[in-house]
Amino acid sequence: MPRGQTWPSFYLYAVLPPTPPLPTYDVALVGAGPAGTACALALRGSGLRVALLDKAAFPRDKICGDAIPGAALKALAALDPAYRVALAGLRPQSPARHSRLVAPSGRSLWLHWQKPSFNSPRLDFDAALLGLVRHHTDTVILENTSLLEVTAGPDGVHLRTTQGELRCRLVVGCDGANSVVRRQLLPGPAQPQPCVGVRAYFENVADAPDDTTEFYFSRDYLAGYCWVFPVGNGRYNVGLGLLTELISAHKIDLKVLLREWLATHPALAERFAQARQLGPTRGFGLPLGGGVGAALPVAGTGFLLCGDAAALIDPLQGHGIDTAVESGILAAAQARRCCAAGAFDAAFMQPYTDAVQQQIGAKLLLHHRLMRLFSARPWLVNAAVRVAAVPRLRRWLQGLLG
Ligand SMILES: Cc1cc2nc3c(=O)[nH]c(=O)nc-3n(C[C@H](O)[C@H](O)[C@H](O)COP(=O)(O)OP(=O)(O)OC[C@H]3O[C@@H](n4cnc5c(N)ncnc54)[C@H](O)[C@@H]3O)c2cc1C
Repeated sequence: MPRGQTWPSFYLYAVLPPTPPLPTYDVALVGAGPAGTACALALRGSGLRVALLDKAAFPRDKICGDAIPGAALKALAALDPAYRVALAGLRPQSPARHSRLVAPSGRSLWLHWQKPSFNSPRLDFDAALLGLVRHHTDTVILENTSLLEVTAGPDGVHLRTTQGELRCRLVVGCDGANSVVRRQLLPGPAQPQPCVGVRAYFENVADAPDDTTEFYFSRDYLAGYCWVFPVGNGRYNVGLGLLTELISAHKIDLKVLLREWLATHPALAERFAQARQLGPTRGFGLPLGGGVGAALPVAGTGFLLCGDAAALIDPLQGHGIDTAVESGILAAAQARRCCAAGAFDAAFMQPYTDAVQQQIGAKLLLHHRLMRLFSARPWLVNAAVRVAAVPRLRRWLQGLLG
């Protein structure tokens, strides 16, 4: 070609085909755990183009106690009773009819639950939730797709993933305790991880009824507890959770401490003498709600946060599947509002922030205060277990624990 002349554009197109437009959605849900799947189920019938992406391929494990709170099942059933029916048939599972709380004094308190709930390994439970999304909604499910980078502005949200790029009008961060959405769209202090837990699976545990969850408190490590939860097929989820401040102050190795408890605790040692551990002991952080995390925002321009990404784990009991489901459903309502109004600025997200605060945050704050009160006073835990022998007081305590 002679100097000074340019290629005609049709010629360039023939050589370099134009880049195809990015896949575009109204809502992108990052993370297909309880929060992301509940949000997808609650967006069913909205007419919105929804993508649900997860870095894992399901079924995938999640380190957890595997106790599925009744409130999570109730919230899903309110969307469609068929969801609860499908989950009730899930196997393996173990009904959670009774709880036994063992105080530092060794005294036991038995609680009996009316609300239907069960324990099931998260490997199976989360895959079943995703199965419901696949079966009942038009959500585009992208597994093996890890979010690397996200930017959000008034013109929309741009996501870069390990499988390519996509655009959406609203991103919902359901990506758990180490949320990329939270870290990248909420500059400022990192999300606190006030608690850490370890979990292992066992079989052949003696004298462990398959409908009873057990909690053990110790005088030395009150800011946490050890649990033994049956999960079906003769297997038990056994774990230990403690406040991070205690772990750092006493340089505790949680895996070692769990082994010691099982070998020496008067109510556990004999029962675990012949027990067999299945697989390794694994640990993970619990972003508890109600403490420092409660002051951090759960939404901003172009994004909402749900579940662990919004630090919504109950500080008294350590469960977060219920609040993940509940916040996912609240986020779906906000996503509908945003898309209907074409408004995605931070101010427009206020109804979501208010709803999370009213329906979830207020209870977490109360439980945070109670956890702080009990965790420094073994005598108070002993006294609570003793006075709960009185039926009226036991009913009050049971109401408090859910
Ligand atoms: C030791 C322990 C015991 C617990 N016991 C209980 C219990 O018995 N009962 C209870 O109710 N709660 C329990 N919890 C809390 C519970 O596990 C969480 O609160 C719950 O899983 C939160 O759900 P979620 O959907 O917000 O997040 P998650 O369940 O963590 O799901 C997040 C999803 O996001 C995906 N993801 C993460 N990063 C990316 C990325 N960059 N790109 C794409 N995808 C991504 C992950 O693969 C995952 O599938 C426990 C927690 C721990 C650590």
